[in-house]
Amino acid sequence: MTFRGRIFLAAFVTTALSLAGSTVLVSVELRRGLREDVGHTLMQHARLAAELLAGRTDLPDPELEAQQLGRRINARVTFIDARGQVLGDSDVARERLPELENHNARPEVIAARASGEGTATRGSVTIGVDTTYAAAVVRNSAVSVVRVALPLTAVDERVRGMQQLAAVGLAIALIMAAGLAWGTSVLLSGRLRRIAETAARYSQGDFSRPTFEYGADEIGTVARALDASVRELGKRLDEMTRERAELASILAGMFEGIVLVDRDRRLVLTNDAARQMLQLPANATGRVYKDVMVDPDVMSMLSAALQGQPTAPREVRLEHSPNGAFIANVVRVEHAPDGGAVLVLHDVTELRKLDRIRRDFVANVSHELRTPLTAVRGYVEALLDAPPAEDADRRRFLEIIGRHTMRMERLVRDLLRLARLDAGQETLERGMVPLDALLNDVEMDMTEALNRKRQRLVRHLAPDAGSIDADPAKLHDVLRNLIENAINYGPEDSVIDVSASRDGRATTIEVADRGPGIPTSDLPRIFERFYRVDRSRTRDPGGTGLGLAIVRHLVELHGGTVSAARRDGGGTTVTVRIPESG
Ligand code: ADP
Repeated sequence: MTFRGRIFLAAFVTTALSLAGSTVLVSVELRRGLREDVGHTLMQHARLAAELLAGRTDLPDPELEAQQLGRRINARVTFIDARGQVLGDSDVARERLPELENHNARPEVIAARASGEGTATRGSVTIGVDTTYAAAVVRNSAVSVVRVALPLTAVDERVRGMQQLAAVGLAIALIMAAGLAWGTSVLLSGRLRRIAETAARYSQGDFSRPTFEYGADEIGTVARALDASVRELGKRLDEMTRERAELASILAGMFEGIVLVDRDRRLVLTNDAARQMLQLPANATGRVYKDVMVDPDVMSMLSAALQGQPTAPREVRLEHSPNGAFIANVVRVEHAPDGGAVLVLHDVTELRKLDRIRRDFVANVSHELRTPLTAVRGYVEALLDAPPAEDADRRRFLEIIGRHTMRMERLVRDLLRLARLDAGQETLERGMVPLDALLNDVEMDMTEALNRKRQRLVRHLAPDAGSIDADPAKLHDVLRNLIENAINYGPEDSVIDVSASRDGRATTIEVADRGPGIPTSDLPRIFERFYRVDRSRTRDPGGTGLGLAIVRHLVELHGGTVSAARRDGGGTTVTVRIPESG
């Protein structure tokens, strides 16, 4: 049954029962009251009759007198003598009087004889209907007891009439009650339905305010209280969702690996970095960390933290990155109900590499500077302590000192240039550079070196590669460095090929020599600072070991690439590719 039906039924049945109950009670009470009234009236008549008959020792026609009295008070009047014999009865014919039984056993007569008067109500033997009797003792008379009786038919009829009226009233009241109950149940169930719809909407995450009023009664109060708590919960839920999303983005954006485990050693949360570093399976969340991790260092730190032991950050080895360097830190989650621990993994591989490069660089610089310095100092000391007798020897010493000084100067110049490039202090000023003219400049700079080794520059410039979109000064430095290397490492009487071509939106320049070439394993490293293929040539005052590093920097500043390869038929080819700007 629907809620509305139940409310209706409850209200209707309650109203119907109470109306019917009160009608029954009223009619019973009415009947009792009426009968009591009849009793009182009859008693008064009986007393009056007893008064009238008092002292009448001689009563010639009691039957006649009974009938007259009966007519006057409009009730049945019975005269009873001392033996209980009926002397006269207004409702019984004279000739039937002897048939009447002795009346001394009647309750009202017994009561009258005992206390002077008495009443009783019962079905009359004589007239056959419910009758009320009132009897009174008559003093000093032939009639011992006078009894007045009235059948209750009139009373019962009035009660029945009342009951019929009450039934009609009851029916009307019930119809009205039914309407009222129906209306109330419709209103109530309508409100409840709207409240339920609002609750359903809330449960689907729509927290917009309801358009109806909850009302001022108890249901309204309960609905308002629930509404307020649901809204509060919704607000907290929103906040939690937002915080979760923020946390998720923070974790996803972090370079550090984050792993959260609970008191039961289960993984609660991991970020991308941690999953990558520890190579955790996709379904790792919710599983015991010992089942998914393989790194003993990390696991022992987690286990120590979960047992409440103090842990300090330390470098750990990760099975899946044997060459990497990682610092792990584990902290206990103090104020959460579940406890647990958070592991933070910091990948310091790059830092360590940079640190090593920096240390190597400092060592290289010191070494590179010490070599010419030692030589300079040696020759200066020689000149001071034991100057050669010959002018030519002194001159040779001074020339050596000069060469080493120049080498130091070049080294310092190259170092400063690299520092400027590293700091981004060199800006590009691009323009269309005519390659032929640029190569003329470079060749002019290198004429002396080329002539010394009797080498020749041969150009192979494709027609569409006549001009190149680049910074002329920087491109000059690039080509000068490459041609200088080709001259240095190429044999005497050899040809150095410089070619240029265009592919799409980029120009490729190649410088190829016929020197010894570079072993394949060294090819990727020759652009590193101070890297030299042949370490024994370190003392060669010609190069600084920084030339190709500067070249790479300058090319990359143009957004281009540079690479070296072994040339077919011996020698080295260095290829520079510079894309057009914009
Ligand atoms: P360097 O001043 O020593 O020439 P670079 O940076 O120019 O320094 O070159 C780095 C190293 O690469 C050189 O020391 C040399 O071993 C090798 N290299 C560079 N160019 C050539 C080449 N054309 N042929 C052979 N080896 C070369």
